[in-house]
Amino acid sequence: QTSIIDKQALSEILEKNRSYIKQGTIADYIPELAKMESTAIAFAVADSKGNIISTGDTTKKFTMQSISKIIALMVAVQEIGESSVFKNMGYFGSDRPFNHFANLETTGKPLNPMMNAGAIMTTSFIKGEGEDAFIKILEMIRYITKNKTIDYNKAVYNSEKETGNKNRGMFYLMKNNGLINGDENKLDNYFKQCSIELTVEDLAKIGFFFANQCVRFDGDSIYRNVELSKLIQSQMLIAGMYEFSGEYARTVGLPSKSGVGGGIVACVPGRIGVGVFSPPLDTHGNSLAGYHMLLDFVKKYNLSVFQ
Ligand code: GLU
Repeated sequence: QTSIIDKQALSEILEKNRSYIKQGTIADYIPELAKMESTAIAFAVADSKGNIISTGDTTKKFTMQSISKIIALMVAVQEIGESSVFKNMGYFGSDRPFNHFANLETTGKPLNPMMNAGAIMTTSFIKGEGEDAFIKILEMIRYITKNKTIDYNKAVYNSEKETGNKNRGMFYLMKNNGLINGDENKLDNYFKQCSIELTVEDLAKIGFFFANQCVRFDGDSIYRNVELSKLIQSQMLIAGMYEFSGEYARTVGLPSKSGVGGGIVACVPGRIGVGVFSPPLDTHGNSLAGYHMLLDFVKKYNLSVFQ
């Protein structure tokens, strides 16, 4: 087994798994996502020296969707502290899909900040009026990736907002339970963060950041924070792949977060960041080819944290 991660090795893994594209289904819960190009596929790694190695459709942009939840969690914890963020929310894993009301009906409290309910609440904790919270999330992503061109896709955002009635329902239930203060702008920030567009290389840089104590791929460290990176990676590990998280931990064994836009970000703690992209999803809402590329990558380089 080789220890050198190079473009050729990544390309081989990508080609081996390209056919999974045909077996998955593109997210169609909103019309704008259903328009995604199903054959786009890409793989990127930010290695231990911060070099970016990538292959496939590396310039193709896609929306972050649920991957934005880890950035929102970081910003909220920085602003109000971990104990305030988790005062009314669990550190639980889940056997339920991403948009399940789980726990809201019974205890009234979200399970964790990776499922929609908890993520909507987390974003509501970020201070400011109107779209301030969204701007802070966007600026953090631009900082981590050193990519100032990152922005949100307005058509996807409008589509999320128009059709997001289940998310709206959870928002108002939590507001009713006294867990969220503020108007619907708070929910709007969540729809906007889901619509932020980036590339697979940007994802690899985000993975590197959380894998390395919140230090950027270029070694810069104004946000260095060991506890925050532990919190975020642990949430990714137990709930980042929705109800597939347990099986994913068993098979891939890396803190990871998927989004229904087809991206998955993964952290090799203390070492590297990985980003994969392919829109067709499995039944849990995780990129199918993305999962299989990660599986092969981890096996080839012995990267499971349970190794
Ligand atoms: N915008 C999606 C929603 O909130 C994100 C879901 C996801 O990526 O899992 O329904």
